[in-house]
Amino acid sequence: MRVLQRVCLPLLAVACAGFLLSLVGCSNGPPDFKEPPVRVVCTTTMIADMVKGVGGERVSVETLMAPGVDPHRYQPEPKDRKRIENAHLVFFNGLHLEGKMTDTFEKSRGRIRGHAVTDAIDHSLLRAADVDGGEHDPHVWFDVQLWMKCVGLVRDKLSDLDPAGSELYQRNAETYLKELEALDKEIRVELAKVPPERRVLVTSHDAFGYFGRAYGFKVMGLQGVSTASETGIKDVAELARELGTTKIPAMFTETSVPDEGLKAVLDICQRDYKHAVKLVGGDEALYSDALGGPGSSGETYVGMIRHNVAVIVRELSK
Ligand SMILES: [Zn+2]
Repeated sequence: MRVLQRVCLPLLAVACAGFLLSLVGCSNGPPDFKEPPVRVVCTTTMIADMVKGVGGERVSVETLMAPGVDPHRYQPEPKDRKRIENAHLVFFNGLHLEGKMTDTFEKSRGRIRGHAVTDAIDHSLLRAADVDGGEHDPHVWFDVQLWMKCVGLVRDKLSDLDPAGSELYQRNAETYLKELEALDKEIRVELAKVPPERRVLVTSHDAFGYFGRAYGFKVMGLQGVSTASETGIKDVAELARELGTTKIPAMFTETSVPDEGLKAVLDICQRDYKHAVKLVGGDEALYSDALGGPGSSGETYVGMIRHNVAVIVRELSK
């Protein structure tokens, strides 16, 4: 028996070590990139639109959060971890937008090439906000010029991984940036049609802070910067009082956030202030934290911004 132990125990130890080594080997770093397509996973549809624009035919893009999905409340599915670990590159927004994905990214640490696109933005340009443990407002895509800064990061990370495609990424990035530059100019002209006293944007949650800062609107959200925060009766009453006393004509539903809170505000406005504020929704709801589905006006980032601006101008300049 003792002889058997002397022979078997060392063998068992070697076998165990081999098994452990094989585990380490399996999980050692992100997958190698050999040839296109570069497999990219993005968290939000806005980022996916940018990566598709820059990457063109050399990338295949998978998006974790479908059109219309709220990123603050998004609970990762078990398969998401596998998806990000199989990708050559992972792009996320950062600034705690994907609040409930932190754990997933943490567990995949060392096994993914993950980049927050907002790392491209100098912190002095960010709005301060208390959001799910973060200090900055994550909704940077609503200032087109700020969002443009993220394009260079996507171009550089793709080029680093796939140098053979760098010329294409450079060209595509320039085209995408030109499109966004034209968009920024176009919406400034459109938004100028709203009279100064009507430049108030009321929405379900505070997604439009950067929009307000960039294009000259006062912004009021029923919820805070994250939809994960609860709406209180006091918040509803305060917003109703503001609308009722200033006679702001409209409030805007968001495609990725339920509108019960705004409906409660509307009821109080009518009952206590005899103010018939319009709740703009349905096909005219604003795209806030996600693009729209295929065939919708908000299917692309440019489409999202154009749709929002057209609705805001129409409703507030009446
Ligand atoms: Zn948001």
